[in-house]
Amino acid sequence: MFNLVKGTHDVILNEADKYSFVENMFIDIARRYNYKEFRTPIIEYSELFSRSVGDSSDIVRKEMYTFLDKGNRSITLRPELTAGIIRSMVTNKLFVNQDYPIKAFYVGPCFRYERPQTGRYRQFNQFGVECVGVSTPLRDAEVILLGYKALKKLNFENLTLKINTLGDEETRTNYKNALKEYFKPYLETMCDDCKSRFELNVLRILDCKVPSDQEIVKNAPKITDYLSETAKTNFKEILRILEKNNVKYELDYNLVRGLDYYSGVVFEFHYKGESNKDFGALGGGGHYNNLVKEVGGPEVEGIGFSFGIERVVSILNELDAFEDSQIELHAYIMPIGEENQEYALNLAEELRDNGFEIDVSLENKGMSQMFKKATRRKALYAIIFGENEIQNNEFGLKNLLTEEQITIKKEELIDVLTKLLGGGCSCDHDHDHEEGHECCCKRSD
Ligand code: AMP
Repeated sequence: MFNLVKGTHDVILNEADKYSFVENMFIDIARRYNYKEFRTPIIEYSELFSRSVGDSSDIVRKEMYTFLDKGNRSITLRPELTAGIIRSMVTNKLFVNQDYPIKAFYVGPCFRYERPQTGRYRQFNQFGVECVGVSTPLRDAEVILLGYKALKKLNFENLTLKINTLGDEETRTNYKNALKEYFKPYLETMCDDCKSRFELNVLRILDCKVPSDQEIVKNAPKITDYLSETAKTNFKEILRILEKNNVKYELDYNLVRGLDYYSGVVFEFHYKGESNKDFGALGGGGHYNNLVKEVGGPEVEGIGFSFGIERVVSILNELDAFEDSQIELHAYIMPIGEENQEYALNLAEELRDNGFEIDVSLENKGMSQMFKKATRRKALYAIIFGENEIQNNEFGLKNLLTEEQITIKKEELIDVLTKLLGGGCSCDHDHDHEEGHECCCKRSD
């Protein structure tokens, strides 16, 4: 017996269906905004992350899975996808003809050596988007809207968008100086992490989760007092557009995010449940000024966010939001007698070729065992036949929910099943393919 590696988890069976459902929903929304899929390697050179995510971030300091390969190169399992996506835009020369914005979406696993706890794994999945090459409040707002709409589409009710701005270069320099002044006298009493954050990136102290440090953070200077005029106007404009689009947000001046590349607007999506369980942020992101240049591209800006699929699915599970589907298979084929199994296999193939989801008993089981299996597999119909039926070119077709059974001719089977299953069309509008409903696409091929 082998144990799971600490902090990892299997996603199997129904749970895997939920992951696919959530990912497909996100992908569907991203495509509506004309984002294109990017699939980048799980391994990248380590330097990519120290340059982008940043040497002062917890991720780079403590959480990366880094190793030397056989050629003595330092390789890292990606802790997030943004850096790799931007790297791929540079590698593939997407900046050359300046056809901006470049819009990318991604889904895939990330790896962080964190302390495993609720909603926190060492291997987890992210979905995210990057909109690169532009820098206007309208674009920033559009990307935030995409994220908000995606979660709304999944029926998240108590959704909070926390939002802040880290301003421009000038803002951050002034603000960092003010923070240093403020924290200096308290530093001796603060946690070791904060001591190194003070040196590496003082903004990060605002993010500290140690209660006694949070008390000190409460009275720290607020970034609003240091925003340059441009930063102030941009932020106001983004908030105005969000309001106009009915997005409920909360200003959170201590929101700095855990990655160094952000500048301008930063945001996180939170869910407030009744159980008071804290799953952490569902996702977050922000605007970046220097990331593209840092990774070898031109001096252009961008904005992106990512959602943690594990957290989204956990909360939807908590809310009982996934329908427990009664039917997972159109039909289960039950041949009576070993000699009829090959006939059954051929029939299964024919039905599958016609777009039906079919399983078949090929293990020489008795009738009652086959019925039990059909029920366990959540089949809607059982197709039953023995030697006589084959001779007469007919089958028994039993609806396993209503227990009604009819006899039908072989040549009618596909038509009858098509009608009973509501079109049998091969489009992917699953919702319209329940029994008795005609698919909205009106295809019945
Ligand atoms: P980040 O890349 O740190 O901004 O994280 C974006 C989102 O990824 C978070 O809001 C979480 O939903 C998810 N996430 C980050 N770290 C983990 C983790 N260790 N386990 C599960 N989900 C995570």
